[in-house]
Amino acid sequence: MFSEFKQKIVKDYTRLTGILLLSVSLVIYIAGSYMSYKEQMQQIQMLAVEESEELYYKLVDTDISDVSIDENFTDMAPDYFSRIFIYGYDINHTPFLQHNNLSWSQPYIDDIISSGKMNYHQVYFHFKLVDNRHPKAFITMRYPLFKGAQSVGEVYVGMEVTHWLREQVRILFALLFTVLFSMIFVYFIAHKMAEKAMVPVVKSFEQQKQFIANASHELRTPLSIIMSGMTVLKSYDDNKLSNFSQDIVNDISDESVKMKKLIDNLLLSTRSDNNTLKVNPVKFALKDIIIKSYNKFTLLAAEKNISISLQNLPEISQLTLFADVNQIEQILAILIDNAIKYTDENGSITISVETVHRRIFISVTDTGKGISAEDLPHIFERFYRAEKSRTHYGNGLGLSIAKMLAQKNHGDITVVSQENKGSCFSLVLNR
Ligand code: ADP
Repeated sequence: MFSEFKQKIVKDYTRLTGILLLSVSLVIYIAGSYMSYKEQMQQIQMLAVEESEELYYKLVDTDISDVSIDENFTDMAPDYFSRIFIYGYDINHTPFLQHNNLSWSQPYIDDIISSGKMNYHQVYFHFKLVDNRHPKAFITMRYPLFKGAQSVGEVYVGMEVTHWLREQVRILFALLFTVLFSMIFVYFIAHKMAEKAMVPVVKSFEQQKQFIANASHELRTPLSIIMSGMTVLKSYDDNKLSNFSQDIVNDISDESVKMKKLIDNLLLSTRSDNNTLKVNPVKFALKDIIIKSYNKFTLLAAEKNISISLQNLPEISQLTLFADVNQIEQILAILIDNAIKYTDENGSITISVETVHRRIFISVTDTGKGISAEDLPHIFERFYRAEKSRTHYGNGLGLSIAKMLAQKNHGDITVVSQENKGSCFSLVLNR
């Protein structure tokens, strides 16, 4: 029970820390990438400004067809020089200038230029898969050329940034790997912390459990004495007790039975928690146990005028099970008792058996008050009572015990219920 809770704390803490780490890392990454992209943009803008200024002065006394920019590249770093391209066109779109060391880029640049989608003075980012295999990235800029005040052509400058993009992807993967690695680290730290934090809780829970076990045990003897005293008093010559005294004896007797049931259930729960509950599987005929359980409750059902019936019994006449017969009986008793308790007068209850492959479904279906969707996920929790009005006697232990016993016998209990329509509880066992 606590290990599940601890696991949940550890998972939640790790998830939360992971989300936080990832968000912070991504924000820093995006900011860093954006800044370095801006640097790339500034580089190309500077190149464009330098080129346009140089060409502007050249065009003062030279014709556009004689313009060259060779001398401009001599002072550039070779690495930078090999990554840039410059294309010049006159007003008739005739090329007068072409510098391009990037052999792969020609068709893409032609495409971009002929599409006419680039505005002047804006930087554009392009990503292409060359030969469907090699990712290439480059940024471009377009600017107009003037001779004096007259427009005489335009120039496209571009720069390959594949290397920069690769670097960004590498950083991103390194970041994700670091976050993942940190999460593994955080998981172990959270595990240790949760373990430490749980120590006082587990200790106090153990003390409570011990107290319940001791108290239930100690209450058994006085209760047995009260119950046997009541049995003696009831069998006492009726004439010697006034009607009032008889009523009191009957009340005490009824309440003692309820108290015994509660104490037995508490002891059973603590035994299950301490793993001291024994399961003694034997081979038995399922039909006999179902009839026995049915017979036990016919009187109780009749008191509320509830019809109780058995279904499909002939089909299972040969069916035998290997399980703890007393515990299976106890589960059926809890389910049938609940069905009677939570069904109004004149309702009906059906006990049916169905086999699907190697599984057996023993179902108790009632036409009672049903369970709301809100309560349904909790009804198997210890001490949980969907019925807050407390019109029916109960302590919220029955279903948790039934489920625990079913699981001890390698089975389970499932439920389908609709408010104000009824419920169907099935004990599922393996053949
Ligand atoms: P108890 O009956 O003592 O309250 P249980 O553990 O047996 O405790 O049941 C838990 C809750 O589930 C009950 O309080 C009741 O609200 C709901 N419940 C159980 N069986 C039925 C049923 N057949 N029909 C409607 N509600 C049910």
